[in-house]
Amino acid sequence: MSQFAKFLLTDGQIPSVWINVLPALREPMDPPLHPGTRQPLAPQDLQAIFPMSLIEQEFSPLAEIDVPGEVLDIYRLWRPTPLYRAKRLEKALDTPAHIYYKYEGTSPAGSHKPNTAVAQAWYNKQAGIRRLATETGAGQWGSALALACRMFGLECTVYMVKVSYQQKPYRRMMMNTWGAEVFASPSDRTHAGQSILAAHPDSPGSLGIAISEAVEDAATHSDTNYSLGSVLNHVMLHQTVIGQEAKRQMDLADEQPDVVIGCFGGGSNFGGLALPYVLDKFAGSAVRIMAVEPAACPSLTRGAYAYDYGDTAKLTPLIKMYTLGHDFVPPGIHAGGLRYHGASPLLSHLLKHGWLEAKAYKQTPVFEAAVQFAQTEGILPAPESAHAIRAAMDEALAAKEEGRPRVILFCLSGHGHFDMSAYDNYLSGKLQDYEHPGKEIDEAMAAIPS
Ligand SMILES: *Cc1c(COP(=O)(O)O)cnc(C)c1O
Repeated sequence: MSQFAKFLLTDGQIPSVWINVLPALREPMDPPLHPGTRQPLAPQDLQAIFPMSLIEQEFSPLAEIDVPGEVLDIYRLWRPTPLYRAKRLEKALDTPAHIYYKYEGTSPAGSHKPNTAVAQAWYNKQAGIRRLATETGAGQWGSALALACRMFGLECTVYMVKVSYQQKPYRRMMMNTWGAEVFASPSDRTHAGQSILAAHPDSPGSLGIAISEAVEDAATHSDTNYSLGSVLNHVMLHQTVIGQEAKRQMDLADEQPDVVIGCFGGGSNFGGLALPYVLDKFAGSAVRIMAVEPAACPSLTRGAYAYDYGDTAKLTPLIKMYTLGHDFVPPGIHAGGLRYHGASPLLSHLLKHGWLEAKAYKQTPVFEAAVQFAQTEGILPAPESAHAIRAAMDEALAAKEEGRPRVILFCLSGHGHFDMSAYDNYLSGKLQDYEHPGKEIDEAMAAIPS
């Protein structure tokens, strides 16, 4: 075992392909359905909002897809990202476990999200698109897409969930700096926004509403496409650069993980790290793969595996996924990036068939873990990422209990420099733990189409 604390690759070792697990799946996936006819979606159905190249990736039978050279040129600004061994955290926990983390917070936007934003912007540019519209919750995805659009000279319109727009101005300023226009959602710029405002003038907004606005904007402007930062197969595909690099780096460390962990909002950082390991699992590896979500928005652990809409206004296709219902508005927890009612259909499928496991945590133990991580490893994690830290620490403590070694690998999906008010709340004892929102979930589940 190596004594090194971090494992670095060179520019030449940035993955030159993305890994597509679709052709390797053991069980067939249920197809997305057209929201009107409820028949399996045809690729043309998506052409109003996505370029054909990305639609092809969504259904691709190829095991590997080449990363375009111009996308690699942008990746080179921050990739390969470092893999660390958390020796000081191990020592603080007094555990025989070895804890490794892949740190995606070194990108200009501070998270893993530019891995797909850059790819999506490039394919849209190739297709002659002039502008991209999208939604953002806490602002991480919006800032990643604003950056990516700037790199390729595209315009960018971001519908930002209103409560975050008001409470988290710095992400908005970051988007503005990269040249994007940002609107608080629900806005009066779309029919979807107008009808929500008519019924609920004080609506704080939700990701589902903001998606409806961005999709409508794209569908009603021929020079504009829509871009989604998580959930879809092509997003998972682009994010596999994380897992491919991590595997090479674990080889450098001369260890193999017993458990691979990622926090879960729509599934992209988790899928990015985990999917290359899922292929190993198909080939017989015993590695455990664990998704970690907030107890306040527990799609994987408490949701139904069912066809549902990706947005509130029911504009998106019906996708088979773990869902809390497209009407579900989760409590205002600080891990804004994990407040989505649904989940990646690919990862939902893998969970359903037993290839993955899932776990949920409340905010307080998550922030406890975040602070202990900051105090030992130095990096101040995003509240989203801290869910993975919590689970990694619990795995390390379980190993201690058993008195046996365990190799733990998790994705540190981003830094928390824009989340200081959340830390302030925690440190001053004001952080609130939401109970499982059982009643709201029951109500929203009733709206899932049968
Ligand atoms: C957006 C975000 C997430 C959640 O999104 P996934 O698609 O589930 O990865 C997690 N961590 C950070 C830092 C994020 O910005």
